[in-house]
Amino acid sequence: MKKILHSLLQKPTVSSQKLTAALAAYFLLFLNISFWHYIFAHIQLNGFSDWIFLFSIPVLIFTLLYWSFSILLLPYVGKPLFILLLIISAGVNYLSYQFGVFIDADMIRNTFETNPGEVKDLITLRSVTWLCVLGILPAVLLSRVRITFKPFLKETAARLARCGILLLCLLVLTPFVYKTYASFGRNNQQIRRLVIPLNYIYATVRYFQIEHQNKRPFTRLDENAAHVPYPDEGKTVFILILGETSRAKNFSLNGYERETNPELKKQDIVNFAHVQSAGTATAFSVPAIFSFTGRKHFKPTDAKYTENLLDLLQQTGYDILWKENDNGCKGVCQRIPNVEMDVKDKRFCDGTYCHDEILLEGLEDYLANLKSDHAFIVLHTIGSHGPTYFRRYPPEFKKFTPTCDTEDIQTCTQEQIVNTYDNTILYVDHIVSSVIDILKKFPDYESGLLYVSDHGESLGENGVYLHGLPYSIAPEEQITVPMILWMSENMKKFDHVDYDCLKEKAAKEHFSHDNISHSLLSLMEVDSTAYDKNLDIFESCRLMPLPRKP
Ligand SMILES: [Zn+2]
Repeated sequence: MKKILHSLLQKPTVSSQKLTAALAAYFLLFLNISFWHYIFAHIQLNGFSDWIFLFSIPVLIFTLLYWSFSILLLPYVGKPLFILLLIISAGVNYLSYQFGVFIDADMIRNTFETNPGEVKDLITLRSVTWLCVLGILPAVLLSRVRITFKPFLKETAARLARCGILLLCLLVLTPFVYKTYASFGRNNQQIRRLVIPLNYIYATVRYFQIEHQNKRPFTRLDENAAHVPYPDEGKTVFILILGETSRAKNFSLNGYERETNPELKKQDIVNFAHVQSAGTATAFSVPAIFSFTGRKHFKPTDAKYTENLLDLLQQTGYDILWKENDNGCKGVCQRIPNVEMDVKDKRFCDGTYCHDEILLEGLEDYLANLKSDHAFIVLHTIGSHGPTYFRRYPPEFKKFTPTCDTEDIQTCTQEQIVNTYDNTILYVDHIVSSVIDILKKFPDYESGLLYVSDHGESLGENGVYLHGLPYSIAPEEQITVPMILWMSENMKKFDHVDYDCLKEKAAKEHFSHDNISHSLLSLMEVDSTAYDKNLDIFESCRLMPLPRKP
């Protein structure tokens, strides 16, 4: 007892070698729960070689961790660094395990671009307990320890020797498991994004690399772009409603068995039934929607250095307004007038978030007093943003019950989660339909509206929640998005669009976010080299060719 007390009072001493091994073991067993969860969900144990494979995984991961930690555990800086890594890793482990999050450079970008409100949503009893037990407690223990290092050459030799022994172990196992690794690795490429802390260290380095590579001069899209309209009379107004996290599957317009579009179904709309998003997260999709570069070649960092649809419209005389009620415009509205909704507005907001109805405030006045003959408005909604779906709609829209009225969606049943999510869709339906109603009050205008969501959402299908999975492995639910168009009689007439042709096309054909910029540029009658007719949704339903510059 005395001994224990004595050692508690005295800072315990541990050699760097032992500590490296202890840390690698701790990370392997306790801070990689999501990794192990993935392994056990995907491994098939059919024979002896599969068991060898399973046995070799901890050896491999331990080796990787030991090697990395041998480099990182240096005198003076090693201890604070590992205290930090323990705490961050516990948090990442929680997110990966609870939400099936894979860590890559895009995810790091999302993290840097997240607002405090989103973080607040993740603070729950469960997450705090998880963080304290797995991260802060071991960090405190580590802070109490005194690490001893050998003289430089001896220390280096000892580390190299141990790393070498581990390498030998791996080499011995290689012939038995090589084949299984090759096939398992091919089918589960994303698994490397689960190995904590290597995944987020690598992703952060990649993120800064990408940002650095993108430090380059700003490029204009087309200095000679011009507004070349068909002959018409009235003012033109177009509203783009940018949705958030609403997936196509839960729209009854797309065949969902529940009535989630009671208002829109009464409007004379064009419903695009098969639309793919550019990305699985806002930080990618939002700039991609306004870009003229297709998804395959698009880089989210481009937004800051390249003009987009809104720049071209502004340049050709459109009065642009971006109303923001989500998580920022991701660089898209940098050069155009934009307003952020005031979260202190008690009618719509709880101090952190606002219901999307706030975007409709003053809209009618704005339309009645247009300064220019051509206006283009973007309403960036918060839509169905999770995991706090219940915060997205006012009480009148709590129609599907029981709901999941907590941040901790893991404690809710799937039915509750889906109910809550469907209520957000009901509210989206109401918002979009209300904006159409506002536009209808100006029958003299050539007016139109496009609603499109930035990406979808997983609601527990195959244990996956939320969104942001790497595109190559993202499930349908995360990348199939609703898209709805409405046009006033004047817009159909003066823009020479065959509405029925469009409806037919929208029901059958497949489209993506790649179509949006090109289609809206042509609908807004801008002649530019940025335009690609093959991506223009309206092209084959136009009754008269687009006017072009002389
Ligand atoms: Zn989003």
